[in-house]
Amino acid sequence: MASPRSERTINRSAAAVIPLFMIAGVVYATWVVVVKVAVEYLIHPSKRYQQLGIPPRHGAAIAILVLYFILLPPMALCYLRTLQIIWTDPGYTSLGQKAEKDTAPGLEQFYTKDVFVCDSQGRPIWCEKCKNWKPDRTHHCSQVGRCVYRMDHFCPWVGGIVSENNLKFFIQFNSYGALYTTFVMIVMAVFLAERKQKAGDVQATWAVALALAAMFCLFSVGMAASTLQLTSQNLTTIENLNRGNAVYYLAALVESPGPVKSPVGRSGYGPGIVTYPNQAHQSQPLQDSGERMRTREYIILQTEAGDNPWDIGPLRNLKSILGDNWYDWLLPIKYSPCTKHDRDDSHFEFGPVVEKLKRQAGLIPQYNSEKPSRHRHKRRHRRHKREEIRT
Ligand SMILES: [Zn+2]
Repeated sequence: MASPRSERTINRSAAAVIPLFMIAGVVYATWVVVVKVAVEYLIHPSKRYQQLGIPPRHGAAIAILVLYFILLPPMALCYLRTLQIIWTDPGYTSLGQKAEKDTAPGLEQFYTKDVFVCDSQGRPIWCEKCKNWKPDRTHHCSQVGRCVYRMDHFCPWVGGIVSENNLKFFIQFNSYGALYTTFVMIVMAVFLAERKQKAGDVQATWAVALALAAMFCLFSVGMAASTLQLTSQNLTTIENLNRGNAVYYLAALVESPGPVKSPVGRSGYGPGIVTYPNQAHQSQPLQDSGERMRTREYIILQTEAGDNPWDIGPLRNLKSILGDNWYDWLLPIKYSPCTKHDRDDSHFEFGPVVEKLKRQAGLIPQYNSEKPSRHRHKRRHRRHKREEIRT
């Protein structure tokens, strides 16, 4: 078995070379479909072919050329956009000051939030390699030795890291790639079969184009389907690996003093309660608008194994990556909405799993009469309708 170091070298070398092969593959497919099939076979078939019952077919050639040049540019643009992000902005977290855990600065970016992912002691997650705090959903990429925001996976096919910054373009590339390769595969299969039947010959260049199209079709359909499915559940590929057993500790702000019940009784600062600033971090007083901030108290919550705290429903999960408008879903231009990180309350929006935990801990009332939930609102709406029908 390869050592992690040599595996890393192989992956990084593959990442540098494979994009060149991908581009060469598209150039080759274009040459075969446009020149060999459309021009030489369909528009100007040789005399021998015409005698064997293969006539010139201008209409078919034009249809193939038009469809080919409709399907190629979106795939190529999404691929280039994905590569561009990998080369310029793959979503590394800032390197910080490489301090030791007990004295490391930067805690205020967590303790000004209402909820954040923490360890069982209520402190943010620490990266031993970067010597820095990890914002929620950050993963340390061993291939490049950096922490990456909402990293999805390291993909040799696109030559680097797929993260929140380019996951959208990666999904678009695979989806357009699935359409493009399906089309090339159909064209090649149809005319290869016709030529074999009528002229009895098989061109190697055609067969290679068919084999490449079939291989990449399988690959891009699989990748498009799996990444879309995970995105609809708001899971990264890395989070999905340990999905069934994953348990998250979450530090949740106690906004008003009152009885709270922590399910985690192991905190070093109290029974599942953490305060900030505290003894351990007096060296970095928390500043807010120039004023020293009051002490904030956090309760440690714990999710059930397999629960995904970021699942906010399939459509909103998809929108957080693909965008709010239909054209954002199609065009590889804008970054995903989830990359803004402009929420005051958390790094990423939390879903019903966290609301339930907060309710159980007494952080939010069991019944909130001011703001009916969507379900209760719907139930009430249905009851009104029934009453209207009766009267
Ligand atoms: Zn790291």
